Parts: sequence; C-alpha cells; structure tokens
Amino acid sequence: MQYRVNPRNGDRISALGLGCMRFPGAALGRPDARAARGLIARAVERGINYLDTAYLYPGNEAAVGAALEDLGLRGSVLIATKMPHASVKRPEDLDRYFDEQLERLRTDHIDYYLMHNITSPAQWERLQELGAGEWLARQKAAGRLRQAGFSYHGSAGDFARVLDAYDWDFCQIQYNYAGERYQAGTAGLEEAAARGMAVFVMEPLLGGRLADKLPDRARRIFAEAAGARTAGPAPVSPADWGLAWVWDHPEVTMLLSGMSAPEQIDQNAALADRALPGCLTDGQHAVIARVVDEFNRANRVSCTGCNYCMPCPHGVNIPGCFAAYNASFAHSWFTGLSQYFTASAVRTSFPKLASNCVRCGACARKCPQHIDIPARLGGVCRRFQPGPVGAALKLWARRHR
Ligand code: SF4
Ligand code: SF4
Repeated sequence: MQYRVNPRNGDRISALGLGCMRFPGAALGRPDARAARGLIARAVERGINYLDTAYLYPGNEAAVGAALEDLGLRGSVLIATKMPHASVKRPEDLDRYFDEQLERLRTDHIDYYLMHNITSPAQWERLQELGAGEWLARQKAAGRLRQAGFSYHGSAGDFARVLDAYDWDFCQIQYNYAGERYQAGTAGLEEAAARGMAVFVMEPLLGGRLADKLPDRARRIFAEAAGARTAGPAPVSPADWGLAWVWDHPEVTMLLSGMSAPEQIDQNAALADRALPGCLTDGQHAVIARVVDEFNRANRVSCTGCNYCMPCPHGVNIPGCFAAYNASFAHSWFTGLSQYFTASAVRTSFPKLASNCVRCGACARKCPQHIDIPARLGGVCRRFQPGPVGAALKLWARRHR
C-alpha cells in the first residue's frame, strides 16, 4: 500500500481510505454487520488504515465500532467520523453527539473529526457562536479527538473563507476528473495543501458514475487507450482511470472509496500501490480530457446517489429517477426507461414515480450537489412519462394498486 503523510501531524495514511457509507445493506438503513466486518478485515489486510463514517449514516458508526472490536483492530486504523452540525442547537449538543459517537464506535477517541457537509461560511459562523471552535480545541487537549476538519460541498468562492475561519488540520472535498471546477475544485485543493493541511478526497468516482455507469462512448475511449504503453500505472477499468487521476495529484493525501465488495478492495488497493503523485503521462491526461467531453454530453443531472435527500414523503425514488435519466443519455433511452421502471417499483401498490412529486422542496434543502430536485424531476417525467408512455404507466400503476 502507498502511504502519504499528513503534513500537520506526520500520520502515515494509506492513499486509499475505506468509505463506510456504502456498506451492503446501508440503503435500508441497517448495514449488514457480517459484510461490514468482512470488508474492514479485508481492507486492513490490504494496508488500508483509514475508515470514514458519520453520525448521519444510519447504523454505520455502530457497525464500524462492533467490527473493530470483534476483529481487535481499533489500534490498526484511524477512525474518521462527523458531527451532524445542523442538529446542534445549543452548546451542550456538541458533547451529547460526540459522546454518543464514541459509544457507538466503542473507542475513547476519534482520530479525524469533521464538521459534516459545510456548504457556506455562515454555517461555521453559527457553530462558532455556539462555541464549536473552543470545543474542538478542548477535545484535542483532552485527547478525545486528534485532528479537526470539515467536509465541504459549498461553492468554489466560499471555500477559502471556510479555510480562513478556523485553524483546521484537514479538509475533505469532492474531487474527480469530471469536477475540476466544481465545489472546492482544483483551486481549493491547491489552496488547502498550500496551507499545510491534509486534503482528503471523496466522490473520486462520483458515486459510480465515472465507473460502471460511465457513458458507452467514454468507456470505448478508455478501452482503446488501455493497451497503450505507459511510464506509470496502466489503468484498465474506468474506475482505475478515475482513481489514478486523483492520486496523480501530489496535494491529495488520501482518497475515499465506498467499496462494498472484497474484490473491489483488492483491485483498488493494487492500483493504490502504483499510483504515485505524477503517475499519469501527458497522453493519459489527453485520454481523460476526451472522456470528460463525452461524460459532460451525457451527464444531465449531477446526482451522486448519496441518498441524503431520502426518504421523500411522497415515495419518489429520487436518486433512482436521476440515475435512470442519466442512463437514458449515456446508453440509450430504452436502457434508461427500463431502469426507471425498476427504480420506480412501478409494479408495487405505491409506485415511486417522478410524477408523485408535489414540489414540497424538502429534499432539495438536503442535497450536497445543490440540485433543484423538483425541477429536475419534471425533466424526468417529460423524458419517461410523456403522452402515451405516461398514460400507460399510470394505467399500469392503477392496476397494481
Ligand atoms: S419536492 Fe418532490 S421529491 Fe422532493 S421531497 Fe417533496 S415530493 Fe418528494
Ligand atoms: S439528489 Fe442530491 S441528495 Fe439526492 S441522492 Fe442525488 S446527490 Fe444525493
């Protein structure tokens, strides 16, 4: 395993971290404890020493804590988890959530502690007024947390203001080859690294949209390039290309991948061994530039499938609708329609059709990608439920009620 050093405290961190949010079963709100144990064991076996979870991932901290205790691996890994800061209304809430997290994770300290999903400087200012800055310093002094940081989903312009607002040790940003100018982007990555902070990357494959869900034409570009002779690692699959692109950046300390199968861990860990900073050639960068063009042509809604917007009180399967919509441009309209049928559970008593949306707006407030969900669901309806198709779907839904 390749390790990179946290410039703040000298920790040697595996270049590949395990994002625990996508443990099997997590979509139902209850991670499969046995699967979680198996994945963590395999990850540590392959040299991964950083595990990322959050208070808001249902059942996730408890699954990680139980697995580490069962396996006796707490001392072998760095645990990262996150404060659900929007729920912090009074100063004492900080201790309340943190104590609960220590208990769930069955540990006496958190190695990397983040304010979860900061989207604007105003959010941190509000927390500062509740004493969060002093609180973090106190926890560090008491040895209850080692490094303080934040995960970020705000605009490029606001990122430097959040960096300036506290003496952070590290930050976690969304970063991938399709989003160099999105959210913190390349400018934010370089800015944070220049301040001597560790920078962790999330969504390196955009929730799979740069891997198995990549448009067919983009996949062909990668497939044709896979046989070329290169000086660095020879990425094979679209996922390899996406991960190698992130590791190519020397400013990146570690990238998180939400691996949900042991084989995925093996494959990504093998690539992490070879994907050193500066590993990609100019020719490989040119290949990725062509893929970005194709991706942008097909990528109509920037949904990563994180599920933060769910559940919809009217039953709409929001990420499923958007995945099907994008697939209809990336592959074919029929592929998208067939996915839409599956995601909508149209043969159930309560179909999860995009047309169920009543535009209440509850979901859009929670979306880290700032998608205008009700408006974009309108586009999904127009694509999959126009005229006769819509009438047929409604009839079908009525029959199965
Ligand atoms: S806006 Fe539509 S999709 Fe979003 S929560 Fe309300 S009904 Fe559901
Ligand atoms: S719409 Fe937004 S919140 Fe919902 S799954 Fe997609 S990216 Fe996540």
